[in-house]
Amino acid sequence: MIWISQWLCPRRHCAIAVAWDDQEMSAEEAERRGGQAFTQGINRWCGICGGSLRVEHDRTKFKTMGEALPYIKAIEQANLRARSIIGGKF
Ligand SMILES: [Zn+2]
Repeated sequence: MIWISQWLCPRRHCAIAVAWDDQEMSAEEAERRGGQAFTQGINRWCGICGGSLRVEHDRTKFKTMGEALPYIKAIEQANLRARSIIGGKF
């Protein structure tokens, strides 16, 4: 199954997200890998409301990454458009 790990503030704004296959890694490993973004300049707080982030792991409806990837790419593009409107300051 494909899972998504999201770093969310209390208002559920998502700072980063990582999709992963439970046949290839554990939630702990996904969290470790996603958390590396914070050592590369991503804020450890919400860029929209300033809330602190916590990680949440949820199973998706997808069985394979091949099934999930078109949806992941569409969401990524929507988020990049939203970021460009806000000004890319987060
Ligand atoms: Zn927020």
